[in-house]
Amino acid sequence: MIDLRSDTITRPSEAMRRAMADAVVGDDVYHDDPTVNELEEEVAGVLGKDAAMFVPSGTMSNQIAVRMHTQPGDVVVLEAGAHIGGHEMGGAAHHSGVTLARIPGTHGMFTADQLRDTVPTRHPSLPDYLYEPYTLVCLENTHNEAGGTVWDLAVMEDVGSAAAGLGLARHLDGARLWNASAASGVDVADYAATVDTVSVCFSKGLGAPVGSTLVGSADFIAEARRFKQMFGGGMRQSGIIAAGALHALRTNRSRLTDDHSHAQLFSERIAESEGGSVDLDSIHTNIVYFEVDDAARVVQHCLDDGVAMLKLGDRRIRAVFHLDVTEAEAAKAADVVAAVIDL
Ligand SMILES: *Cc1c(COP(=O)(O)O)cnc(C)c1O
Repeated sequence: MIDLRSDTITRPSEAMRRAMADAVVGDDVYHDDPTVNELEEEVAGVLGKDAAMFVPSGTMSNQIAVRMHTQPGDVVVLEAGAHIGGHEMGGAAHHSGVTLARIPGTHGMFTADQLRDTVPTRHPSLPDYLYEPYTLVCLENTHNEAGGTVWDLAVMEDVGSAAAGLGLARHLDGARLWNASAASGVDVADYAATVDTVSVCFSKGLGAPVGSTLVGSADFIAEARRFKQMFGGGMRQSGIIAAGALHALRTNRSRLTDDHSHAQLFSERIAESEGGSVDLDSIHTNIVYFEVDDAARVVQHCLDDGVAMLKLGDRRIRAVFHLDVTEAEAAKAADVVAAVIDL
């Protein structure tokens, strides 16, 4: 089976399992786990921020960030297809009591002007407390629903400074920031410099079984530890999983470009088929969304022929490339899927 449903389905390699088995551990709730501490220091360094906090999932990392940056009643601005708005189960409303203002973007990105148009202009004749407080903007790079698309650094810088000018804090959902950097050549720290806090995942393209990290200033992370505990994210000998994340960070970043070229060859093959359509301009990294007449038929038939993908609508299908798919398997999957589409 060539499994293209997600880049989260990878299984830890022998070397990663060995690193996990051999990890030196302590009690992370007491901040006493040397491997977790090593991971947190290394990730903060790589992203050019003061401090980092290891948590079980990207969702928890984002939710803690939203809770930290807002008060109940605040408004959070994000792109219409953002993971925080669409796939975190209303968590922003539940955990933080905020509402969301959604900007329809292009390939998951929006501009500083769109941000300025979204945040209401206060009229000097009215008191500030008659305006909803817009206090946070969240960006997503790469943008999952838009197809793993990569933000232009200059646009991020513009949005970041516009947000600061409007008095908004800035959080980056960088679940796949590693892919963005591999595709663009921009250092992850340069993306991180445009925002206050960043969430990164080790369980997507980097191939670790569990774990995400929230990074930011030392004060921010010290305070955020309270919410990690409150949200049930306090873990004990989590050095076992942090060792997998460290191994992933150190060994699997450089190979992400392979996944990107596999997604490229796959999407070009789909574009050549009669019945498949794909926006080749949206294929920046490892995620391919494409459309066919009957997604249910194509997904089922491909599954029977050994290629698993996700059906995301009557016509929409997703295929994601990751470290358990070789170039030969990517080419084989492209042939199988193109043949099924044009059956
Ligand atoms: C997967 C993902 C997350 C959440 O990560 P989990 O570890 O699955 O909770 C957040 N943001 C984006 C863009 C993602 O793709």
